[in-house]
Amino acid sequence: MRTVSIRWRLTVLYTGILMAILIILGSLVYVLLHFSLMSQMERELQTKADEVLKSTKVVSTLPFFLRQIVLPDVEVFAAPDIYLQIVIKSGEIVARSQNLGSYSLPIDPKIFRSVLQGNSIFHTFNIDNEEFRVLVKPVRVDEEIVGILQVARPLKGVDLAMRRLQTILLVGGLLSLLLSLVLGRFMSGRALAPIKHLTAEAKSIGKERDFQRRVRYSGPPDELNELAVTFNQMLAGLEEAYQRLTDSLSLQQRFVADASHELRTPLTSIQGNVDFLLQLDQKDPKLQKEVLLDISAETQRLSRLVKELLTLAKADSGLKLNLTELKIAPVLEEVVRQARFLEKGQNFILSLEAAEGVVLRVDPDYFKQMLYIFLDNGFKYTPPGQSFSFQVKREGEELGLIFQDEGPGIPEKDLPHIFERFYRSEASRTGEGAGLGLAIAKWIIEQHGGKIKVESEENKGTTFFITFPMHQQK
Ligand code: ADP
Repeated sequence: MRTVSIRWRLTVLYTGILMAILIILGSLVYVLLHFSLMSQMERELQTKADEVLKSTKVVSTLPFFLRQIVLPDVEVFAAPDIYLQIVIKSGEIVARSQNLGSYSLPIDPKIFRSVLQGNSIFHTFNIDNEEFRVLVKPVRVDEEIVGILQVARPLKGVDLAMRRLQTILLVGGLLSLLLSLVLGRFMSGRALAPIKHLTAEAKSIGKERDFQRRVRYSGPPDELNELAVTFNQMLAGLEEAYQRLTDSLSLQQRFVADASHELRTPLTSIQGNVDFLLQLDQKDPKLQKEVLLDISAETQRLSRLVKELLTLAKADSGLKLNLTELKIAPVLEEVVRQARFLEKGQNFILSLEAAEGVVLRVDPDYFKQMLYIFLDNGFKYTPPGQSFSFQVKREGEELGLIFQDEGPGIPEKDLPHIFERFYRSEASRTGEGAGLGLAIAKWIIEQHGGKIKVESEENKGTTFFITFPMHQQK
């Protein structure tokens, strides 16, 4: 995708802002200077007119129409760029400064009338493409207006000054804009350099898929620094997720390898027994039966293993158990009844009274599977003549199931691992289990919102404490 770089956009934006400021400022300077030059010129015209009018005199004290009015000698007041003209009421020009030559200052009839009524008026007129500013004032004799005085000055000077200012503003403005473009590009380039650096680092990390790497950024604690820190935090998160993925992948590979190994053992044994049967002398039914019993035991072991693997596969696929409220006492009694045939002369102590009337939220099939695992282990590991007990206790809002045996106990080094899949302690390697029972039991307990603890002492026995939240009865 073609993008317009931030660098250019920033430069153009700043130059645009500068342009707007320059236009406003330039216009203001232009207008103010023009105003100031014009008012200075008008003040000068005013002063000049006042000087001329002051010198208007009346000689003799005869009645008005016979009086001698001495008009000022305009030549005294005229300057090379100041033109004077006096016009009397009748419209006759009675005095003119010489610098006017053959020209006379034009008289606008409207202005003429207005001035004869006593007003002073400024106006601008044009002769031969040259502009003049004119002040027209009434000429009074004894409070009576006898004519008008026109004082004019060319606007050449003001125009020249304004044109110069225009040129200065235009050239200066353009130069400033050019400078702003160049400097702006340079400055925004500098400001964006850290982002460029961060982008390059991020690109290279993405390309190499090296989530252990972190972007290096050494700058003041500003927004960019925050960006770098956030980016690194994200990388840490990615690294962790990636690690988890790798771990769970290798865990799964191990699970498949262990499962295949466990499945192979009974299959090899069955295969060996079948081969043996095929070669066996038909007349030895006792041996035949022995081999068949062996095959049957191995087949049972195989089917139990397959069932366990299936449960774990379901657990891994995120299966949620179907929990329903259930009176738990009958469930416990049923499983105990089924497990009784595992007894081999142990002293089995049962105490289920506390479960009477208790309702738990359970998935009955899985709950029974879990109970069976502990009963099976208890009878398996408790030697004949020793005690194995299954007790139920209420503890506040919880129901506790306690399986306590006087078996060989679990070595301390094995205790942290017994809930792992395929884990069997050295001492029990010869047993028929594949080391999946406790892993399955723990998953089922957790699915029911329960907890499990184990205490064990070698040569003394093992106790499993399991607790479940009791369902509140209404
Ligand atoms: P298995 O099906 O092989 O018994 P488990 O997951 O049930 O597998 O148990 C894992 C290991 O924990 C067993 O191999 C055994 O070493 C140990 N274990 C479990 N229960 C007991 C017990 N009651 N007494 C002694 N050791 C036990």
